[in-house]
Amino acid sequence: MKQKDMNLKEMYMNSGIDEDVLDYTLNIAENLNDYFQKLDENAEFNQLKVLKAMREEKVSEACFSISTGYGYNDLGRDTLERVYANIFHTEDALVRPQITCGTHALNIALSSNLRPGDEILSPVGKPYDTLEEVIGIRPSCGSLKEYGVSYRQVDLKEDGSFDYDNIKKSINEKTKLITIQRSKGYQTRPTLSVDSIGELIAFVKNIKKDVICMVDNCYGEFVERREPSEVGADMVVGSLIKNPGGGLAPIGGYIAGKKDCIERAAYRLTSPGLGKEVGASLNVIQSFYQGLFLAPTVVNSALKGAIFAATVLKGLGFLVYPEPETKRHDIIQAVTFNKPEGMISFCKGIQAGAPVDSFVVPEPWEMPGYDSEVIMAAGAFVSGSSIELSADGPLKEPYTVYFQGGLTYPHAKFGIIRAIQQLKTDGIITSDTLKAT
Ligand SMILES: *Cc1c(COP(=O)(O)O)cnc(C)c1O
Repeated sequence: MKQKDMNLKEMYMNSGIDEDVLDYTLNIAENLNDYFQKLDENAEFNQLKVLKAMREEKVSEACFSISTGYGYNDLGRDTLERVYANIFHTEDALVRPQITCGTHALNIALSSNLRPGDEILSPVGKPYDTLEEVIGIRPSCGSLKEYGVSYRQVDLKEDGSFDYDNIKKSINEKTKLITIQRSKGYQTRPTLSVDSIGELIAFVKNIKKDVICMVDNCYGEFVERREPSEVGADMVVGSLIKNPGGGLAPIGGYIAGKKDCIERAAYRLTSPGLGKEVGASLNVIQSFYQGLFLAPTVVNSALKGAIFAATVLKGLGFLVYPEPETKRHDIIQAVTFNKPEGMISFCKGIQAGAPVDSFVVPEPWEMPGYDSEVIMAAGAFVSGSSIELSADGPLKEPYTVYFQGGLTYPHAKFGIIRAIQQLKTDGIITSDTLKAT
């Protein structure tokens, strides 16, 4: 080994990693470099896209001024919303710290664009857990169901493809809005590519032209060169403590889309008559800009981390989804351990490698809204941020951990190596397992 590499390896060993763990993992990392070059080109493309938007919309130092009170004529807020619309190729956007999270953004997009008697169709199976209560799939106070909005669902076919026959049958005179979740969330279905979302939207609009197509874009932003709003989506919706916040935004959500959809969303977020005119951007606006600026390279780091994790864990005999070198459409990597001890050990390792709360040991707990215990590893600067390196999952068969994020690739890489070390320390894998691979 070259002297330079020796020093790096020593640094890892000084950080508590055994030599056999390093020999196995660092060798894998080296072999991924060619593949990573393709990802770097995507990041470069998206960095240019963000830069172009910031230049065209004339972002200036004045945009970072703190605003308070009603927030009339908030230059920073209004300019940022134009930057988002530019990036997503939409007519308008709503990007606010008053949108508390991704679920809230989705709730606003849905509830503002639906009226009593309307129907929602999900042609991609069950939506994200928290949306079940928004829609009223699980009875919930204030759900859309309570307001007379009905819901239909068509599951994906066994092979993950769209069930076009049943989608066609499910579109009726009441169908007002189609909700399409891009990321798999906590499921094992495939994540949808932007191309396939485009095909689905074209199919639906061909049957019913004026139906509103909304895409839950969480975890998908900047993974590909195009966003769903470039292939026909009327609204794309997401969280700022995931991809587009770049790890810096401390709160917030966005909705980008057609002018009338965004207008209705704004009247719902604030008040009829007020809409986008109010809502001070407070002292967080500069982090929204800077986070967005960093987002393409942060997403790139997270993707590299996911691919490194998939390769390392697959090599050790664990089931990984997606497979290491399949084309990615979101930043999530699922790993199945088949027993609770493996899951817990992996999460402990991720936590131990974090910059914040590394000394804390994550324990499974009864989280509200889940039917089994959940374990979460997160040592994040922004509480609950999952663009930062994090791992979690419900403690039930088949004991799958969902792993995502990493503000820098070196941290994602170390977190995973530290997790493999933990698996060895806890006896889930042995030195022989590492040598045999
Ligand atoms: C995270 C996520 C949400 C909800 O976002 P929160 O910020 O946790 O409320 C919705 N859909 C998908 C696919 C997500 O990944």
